[in-house]
Amino acid sequence: KKYVYLFKEGKADMRDLLGGKGANLAEMTNIGLPVPPGLTITTEACNEYYAQGKKWPEGLEEELKEKLASLEEMAGKKFGDAKNPLLVSVRSGAKFSMPGMMDTILNLGLNEQTCQGMIEATQNERFVLDCYRRFIQMYSNVVLGVDHYKFENVLEAQKEKKGVQYDTELDAEDLRAIVAEYKNVVLRETGKPFPEDPMEQLFGAVTAVFGSWNNQRAIVYRKLNGIPDDLGTAVNVQLMVFGNMGNDCGTGVAFTRNPSTGEKKLYGEYLINAQGEDVVAGIRTPQPISKLEEEMPEIYQQFLDICKLLENHYKNMQDIEFTIERGKLYILQTRHGKRTAPAAIKIAVDMVEEGLIDKKEAILRVEPGQLDQLLHRRIDPNAKFEVIAKGLPASPGAACGQVVFDADEAEKLGQQGVKVVLVRTETTPDDIHGIVEAQGVLTSRGGMTSHAAVVARGMGKPCVCGCEAIKINYEGKYFTVDGVTVKEGDVISIDGATGQVILGEVPMIDPEISGEFQKLLSWADELRTMSVRANADTPEDAARAREFGAEGIGLCRTEHMFMAQDRLPVVQQMILAETLEERNAALEKLLPMQQGDFYGILKAMAGFPVYIRLLDPPLHEFLPNQEELAVEIAELKCTNGDPKVIAEKEELLKKVRQLHEFNPMLGHRGCRLGVTFPEIYAMQVRAIYQATAQLVKEGVDAKPEVMIPLVIHANELRMLREQAVEIAKQVQEETGVTFDIHVGTMIEMPRAAVTADEIAEFADFFSFGTNDLTQTTLGFSRDDAEGKFLQDYLAKKILTDNPFIVLDQGGVGKLVKMGTELGRQANPKLKVGICGEHGGEPSSIAFCHRVGMDYVSCSPFRVPIARLAAAQAAV
Ligand code: ADP
Ligand code: MG
Ligand code: MG
Repeated sequence: KKYVYLFKEGKADMRDLLGGKGANLAEMTNIGLPVPPGLTITTEACNEYYAQGKKWPEGLEEELKEKLASLEEMAGKKFGDAKNPLLVSVRSGAKFSMPGMMDTILNLGLNEQTCQGMIEATQNERFVLDCYRRFIQMYSNVVLGVDHYKFENVLEAQKEKKGVQYDTELDAEDLRAIVAEYKNVVLRETGKPFPEDPMEQLFGAVTAVFGSWNNQRAIVYRKLNGIPDDLGTAVNVQLMVFGNMGNDCGTGVAFTRNPSTGEKKLYGEYLINAQGEDVVAGIRTPQPISKLEEEMPEIYQQFLDICKLLENHYKNMQDIEFTIERGKLYILQTRHGKRTAPAAIKIAVDMVEEGLIDKKEAILRVEPGQLDQLLHRRIDPNAKFEVIAKGLPASPGAACGQVVFDADEAEKLGQQGVKVVLVRTETTPDDIHGIVEAQGVLTSRGGMTSHAAVVARGMGKPCVCGCEAIKINYEGKYFTVDGVTVKEGDVISIDGATGQVILGEVPMIDPEISGEFQKLLSWADELRTMSVRANADTPEDAARAREFGAEGIGLCRTEHMFMAQDRLPVVQQMILAETLEERNAALEKLLPMQQGDFYGILKAMAGFPVYIRLLDPPLHEFLPNQEELAVEIAELKCTNGDPKVIAEKEELLKKVRQLHEFNPMLGHRGCRLGVTFPEIYAMQVRAIYQATAQLVKEGVDAKPEVMIPLVIHANELRMLREQAVEIAKQVQEETGVTFDIHVGTMIEMPRAAVTADEIAEFADFFSFGTNDLTQTTLGFSRDDAEGKFLQDYLAKKILTDNPFIVLDQGGVGKLVKMGTELGRQANPKLKVGICGEHGGEPSSIAFCHRVGMDYVSCSPFRVPIARLAAAQAAV
C-alpha cells in the first residue's frame, strides 16, 4: 500500500486519499503554479493509525523517509543539515475543509545547530530566531501539549521589558532570550528537553496531526457540519517559504470574490513581514489586499492572474493562502471559499452568465437550508444592542414589539395595529389566535419542535423557545432575567435565527429576494419535476405563498378558522349541543363563516389546487382548560357570583370532563369526528363547494379538493367520500354551477400506509402527513419527546437526526414508499404528495423525489427552499 505521495503525484480528484488541502496542492503543482514542493501522507495512513491502537502503520516510516529524500533533492537542502537545513511545515488536511480545527506546525527542522547554520547562510539572525521561537511554541503546544499561554506570557514579558507593542519590534537579542526561556518552559512542563533531532520532531508532528483529527474542536465541528468521523486526516509536509524575512516579504489570504456579498472583486488581507497564522490570529491588524497593489504592484498583478486561473480551473470561488518571500510569490493553499447565502446565489448566477458553469451546476451550488437566512426580516447586522437572554433559535427572522403574556391580549392589541411579542412559558393550540397577531413568540420552555416552534415556523413568525433564563410571572405581568425586569408593554426584540432576546427596539432590514435569487429559482423551476405547494390557512398566507412561487396549497387546515375569537363561542355551542337540532343550529351559523374563509383562500390560489383538510383536532381543544374552569367556578361561588353564570360554567365543566381523553392525540379526532358527527364534515364540505360555486360564477378558477384526515380503513374513506360527493352534487344542483369534485385522504397512520391499495380505490390523492405518521410509527409524542428523551437518542447516536425535522427514511420512509406504490398500483391516476414539516426539509424532499411523489407542500416561507431542493433532487 502506498501511504505517501509527492505533490506532483497527486490530483484534485484524490481528495478522499490526500485530503482537500493535499489534493489541491497537488493539482496546483501540476498546473504549474508556484507551490513549494512537498508530500502528503494519506488519510488511509491516519485511519490505520487509529485502527492499530494509535500506532504508525507498517512501512509508513520508511516511505516517509524515502519521499523526504526526494523533497530534499527538489529543495536543494537537507533535513537536519548543519549548513543548509531543510525546514518544513507539517499541515493537517481532511477531505472536507475544517478551517483552524486541526493542527499545523511551521518551521520544523530547527534546532541549535540548524539554527546556527541558517543564520550564517541568510545573514539574518533576527529572522531565523523568529522562526525558531515560533516553532518551539507551536510544536510544544501541538505535540507536547504545553499550554499556549505559557509561551505568550514569556513573549509579552519580553515586549514589556523592551517597551514595545509588536513582535516585529523585537530584535535578535530579545528573540534569543525568548528561545532560551521557551526551552525552560518545555523542560519544566514536560520534564524533558525540547527535541533536537529533526526526524524525531517530524515523527512527533505527524503523529500529533493524526491525533488532531480527534481533538474536541474537530469533533464538534464535524458534528455541526455533518462530516463523518471515520474519514481521517491527511498530513502534508511542505518546504517552508518565509514571509517573515523582512519588508519585501509577507503573507495573506484572499477570496477571489467577496464571500459575504458575492461581488466579483478580490477580497482579502495580508501582513508584511509575517508568517502563516499571524493574519488570522489578529496579532497585528492586516492590510486590505487592495493595498498590495500599491506596495508590490508586480506581485499583485501576478496574484490576480493566479486567482483568475484558479477560478477558471476549479469553476468556483476560491479561498487562497499565499506567502511572499523576498519578492517571490508562493501559493500555499486553495479551496472553495465558504460564503453566505446571498453570496452563494450571486456567485452561482454570475458564473452561469460568465459561461463558467451551467444552470444545473448553479442549482447545486446553493445550499437550500441557507436560503432561510434570506426569507425573513432580520436584525440589521450593523446595529448595536443589548442581549438579555438566549434561547433556542426556533423560527428565523426578527421581531420587535411590546411584551404581552396572554394570547387574547396579543390578538386584541395586534388587531389594533400594535406590535407585540407574545411571551409564554409554552404555547398550546388555544394560543394560535394570539400568535397570528403577534410579531413573534418567546417561550421559556420547549424545544425546536415544540408547539410554539412548529406553529411559528408554519406562519413564518420569528420564535425563540426554551429560553429558560427568563422567569415569567403571569400574575404580576412581568418577566425577570438576570436581575432585569421586563413588564407588560415594555419593548423587546427577538432574533429567531440566533435565539437572542434583546431589550428595546432594534433596526430591522427586509428580506431580499434579489434579482439573482429570482433567476436562480426560475432555473430551479425549469429543472424540477415535483411541484411545490404551501401549507396555508388564510388568504394572506395563500397570497404570500404565491409570491414565493407556490403552485397550490397542499394543506389548508380548517381548525384555525374555528379558533378565532368571534367563532369560538359558536364552535363551543356546536360541541356542547345535546341534540342534533342544537348542533345543526350552531353549524348553520358556522357555515357562512367557513364559506367566507374558503372563498378567500380559493380566490388567492386561483388556478391552483387547494387541498382542504376537514376538521382534525380533538374537540376539547376548543373548550376551556378543565382545571382553570374548576378554579373559576370555585372563585365565582366564593364571591357570590351570578348563579346563572355558575350553572352555565358547571354545565360546561361537565362537558369538558366528558370529552376528556387520556391520550387525545390518539383519541376522538380527525375522521373519527366525521364518523360520529357527520353533520360537522357535511357543513365544511358544503362551505367549500358553495364558495367554489360563488367563485366560478365570478369567473374565478377555484380548484378545491377535500382532504379527509387520519383515515385508517378503506371503509372510513368510502363512507366519508360518498357523503362529500353527494353534498357537492347537491350544491351543483342548487347553484346550477358545475365544478370538478375531488376527494382524497391524508396517509398518516401506519395502517393507512399498509392498506394504501384498498384506500386508494376511494381516493383521488394521498397526502402523507408525516408529522403524525412519525409520531405513530415511532410511538413518540412530538410534544413530549424533545424535552424528555430525544436529546439522549441523538447524543447516544441511536438516531442520527431528529425524526420530526428530518424524515426517518429507514422507518417512516418505508411506509411512505410502500403507501405510494400500493396506492398507485390500485389507482394509477392517484396524485401523491407530502404535507408534514418534512415537506420543507431538503434531504426529505430528495427522498420524496426518489419515491416519485407529484408534489411537496411546506410552509410558505420554505417554498423557495423546496423549489431549490426539488431541483437539486432532479438534476
Ligand atoms: P489551516 O488548515 O488551519 O489553514 P494550514 O496548514 O493552511 O492550516 O497552515 C496555517 C498557516 O501556515 C497558513 O497561513 C499557511 O499559509 C501557513 N503555511 C503552511 N505551510 C507553509 C509553508 N510551507 N510555508 C509557509 N507558510 C506555510
Ligand atoms: Mg489554511
Ligand atoms: Mg395529522
